[in-house]
Amino acid sequence: MKTIKELGAALRSRKIGAVELAREHIKNIKERDDSVGAFITVTEDAAIAAAEKAQKSLDSGTATPLTGIPFAVKDNICTKDILTTCASKMLSNFAPPYDADVIEALQESGYVLLGKTNMDEFAMGGSTVNSAFHVTRNPRGCLSGSDSLVPGGSSGGSAAAVAAGFAPAALGSDTGGSIRQPAAFCEVTGFKPTYGAVSRYGLVAFGSSLDQIGPIANTPEDCAIIMNCISRSDKRDGTSKISREKDIPDYTAKIGKGVKGLKIAVPPEFFEAGPVTGNSDEHIKTAVLSAVSKLKDAGAVILDGDAVSMGNALEYAVPAYYLLSSAEAASNLSRYDGLRYGVAGEGRTYDEMVADCRDKGFGAEVKRRILLGNYALSSGYYDAYYRKALALRQEIKRIYDGILSRADVIITPTSPVLPWELEGKMSQDPVASYMADICTVTVNVAGLPAASVPCGNMTGLSVIGRAYFDADVLGVCDEVYRVLGNITEATA
Ligand code: GLN
Repeated sequence: MKTIKELGAALRSRKIGAVELAREHIKNIKERDDSVGAFITVTEDAAIAAAEKAQKSLDSGTATPLTGIPFAVKDNICTKDILTTCASKMLSNFAPPYDADVIEALQESGYVLLGKTNMDEFAMGGSTVNSAFHVTRNPRGCLSGSDSLVPGGSSGGSAAAVAAGFAPAALGSDTGGSIRQPAAFCEVTGFKPTYGAVSRYGLVAFGSSLDQIGPIANTPEDCAIIMNCISRSDKRDGTSKISREKDIPDYTAKIGKGVKGLKIAVPPEFFEAGPVTGNSDEHIKTAVLSAVSKLKDAGAVILDGDAVSMGNALEYAVPAYYLLSSAEAASNLSRYDGLRYGVAGEGRTYDEMVADCRDKGFGAEVKRRILLGNYALSSGYYDAYYRKALALRQEIKRIYDGILSRADVIITPTSPVLPWELEGKMSQDPVASYMADICTVTVNVAGLPAASVPCGNMTGLSVIGRAYFDADVLGVCDEVYRVLGNITEATA
């Protein structure tokens, strides 16, 4: 495994060349991605051209920490003239005429795009099984002898690309856990920034009040390095809150600083087994709690029990999230009518054409969300469902505010379950897979920053922080990474 930090140093000291590095990665993808299925599109020619350009800035001494670094990007982030399919038949031939803000930022830094990664269609799912094109296999599962495990999702292709060594860096998007949960399943680090820290301009919308783009990489420090590039203000996204006037935070500020004196809350509900929490696996519970006790040994103050309880918020978290995200999705996806975007529909009237286009273009899960969302927003049901979900959103925020007024960060498991079989019950039963999102969805509902860091076999530990305290979250993850023996002093 090579980190961005190590590769960047090797590029700047001329130990390797940017073109050679890009070629090596492309070769690896060509030879091995057939068995993983991480990519939908590989952009070989563009990668070599970008690497040549990167080498020029390395030669002229104008390189940034990301110059020449190969990246894999989730296929719902717009890349000019490069297919951006959202893993949907609806957009199977869509090459956007513009780049997302994060892509512009990465280009300015001299990154090298290797290709676009597989995902659940329109980011709806937690397994990448809902892709209209092909499945992605969990590379860690493959290493331990099982090639039939899901990589998680919806950013499963991006997490698998990093885990398989196809790219040291990737971008994903997270509406309810889609960066953190696949990062956990693939044993890499994934970070969902505070809502508003990264521009959503050019991210194909799912649930606009929940969506954030974020990094997936081998280490928390690498995620921080990527954040330093992609977090910036953007007038094209009205919810982009990092102001140009104020200093843009240094996301690496807390790396290597330890956790001495830091107050860490461990709310008991995230660890409780039962139908509501999706039967938290014992292996996961033990792994996370043993990491917490190592943080205590490293000087952190652990708060647990009633003092940091989530009350009964988790009982309603999954329904509230699915109502809110589906309502927003129903509205966002109404733009796919076969006229502006998507497969052309047939029919005698406009309505027939639109219906035919959506019938052919969307997969079952996307249709399910649109139906659920429109139902929840329809007159007569709005008060019963959507308005209640909005009230729960306020309640969840209030509970987090309370805990985070007593503690600096919160630690939870990232997922209550381990990766499941590609063709098993979890892949066929939507409600069972929705319940498995219990540990991640409340973070998006409250707009907070959170990261998942590896903590054992296909298991992740999540750190949740106060809004705009993203650097603190990454700092705690870095310490988890160290206490679990993942960092040797040479790379620290
Ligand atoms: N699994 C969740 C869902 O299906 C989260 C998806 C996401 O974060 N994009 O809605």
